[in-house]
Amino acid sequence: MSFNVEHSLFADVASALDRYEELLAEDQVLRHAEYDRPDPRRRRLKIACNDCDTPWCCNQRVTVDFVEALVIYRWASRNEPRALAAAIARGKALHEQPAVTDSEFFGRGDPCPLLIKGQCTVFSVRPQRCRSHYMAGNPKRCRTELAPTETYKMSPDKALLREITQVADEVEFELLISSAPPGELSETLYFIDQLLPRPRWRVPIRLGWDLIGGSR
Ligand code: SF4
Ligand code: SF4
Repeated sequence: MSFNVEHSLFADVASALDRYEELLAEDQVLRHAEYDRPDPRRRRLKIACNDCDTPWCCNQRVTVDFVEALVIYRWASRNEPRALAAAIARGKALHEQPAVTDSEFFGRGDPCPLLIKGQCTVFSVRPQRCRSHYMAGNPKRCRTELAPTETYKMSPDKALLREITQVADEVEFELLISSAPPGELSETLYFIDQLLPRPRWRVPIRLGWDLIGGSR
């Protein structure tokens, strides 16, 4: 199992992708500080996720931006190649199936392939959608409800988010990407994998399945 992360899609923006990973590490430190913050309102929330051993939320459709997926692809290829291969296989299968709603997707009870033995294998670079989703009530409700009332979003620190966005913009600029619509995580990893055997484009392009001869 080998992944061509020497491809110019990664190599040409290596330092920006390194910086993006560093910013995600800073984001995680701030999140921990937020858990421990002596804020009565926050303490009453009792975040259930840290002790959750059955992350049903990983059955949900996770949408990612292209650069987020690029960071995950590169990180997983080095650290969790089997999980990445499973995610790419699922992305291919999803791409070949008819589109489904978020609710139908969740209803399948088919967890993210990057979840192994209840743990996120790409935790340090997991998507924003995953890192900002929290449950303050009974975790059992996450099993059957797509959005239990006690779930909430803990957005990243504003200054940090600005820098993350700036680095992502820089990556897209360097890679001559004029636009890249967000996509489902596994499907986007599959999409990246399909781009790698191809030579890099030399003019600005809109990233889409038409590039690799598919549609969606
Ligand atoms: S959102 Fe629910 S299922 Fe997901 S980790 Fe938190 S408590 Fe567990
Ligand atoms: S990336 Fe990690 S946290 Fe997000 S759905 Fe997959 S296993 Fe769960």
